[in-house]
Amino acid sequence: MKEHCSHQADCLKMIQLILDGEATEQQLARLKANLVSCQPCIQMYHLEKEVKELLTKRMEKKCCPDQLVERIKTKILTFS
Ligand SMILES: [Zn+2]
Repeated sequence: MKEHCSHQADCLKMIQLILDGEATEQQLARLKANLVSCQPCIQMYHLEKEVKELLTKRMEKKCCPDQLVERIKTKILTFS
């Protein structure tokens, strides 16, 4: 398991595509293969997913405080 990702910017772009539901089958397969060996990208994926879910919930129910979203965003930024 790698501790550092040498292609993190690419990984992040792909993760965002996937979470937006805009990734192609090929991109999905590539990211999956990547996540198996790439520790920082697994964490990035989960954090991105968490943020996205939070934002969605906030839009629907207006239940999440801004600070919570900010805190998670900060967590993501500390990976790079
Ligand atoms: Zn990676």
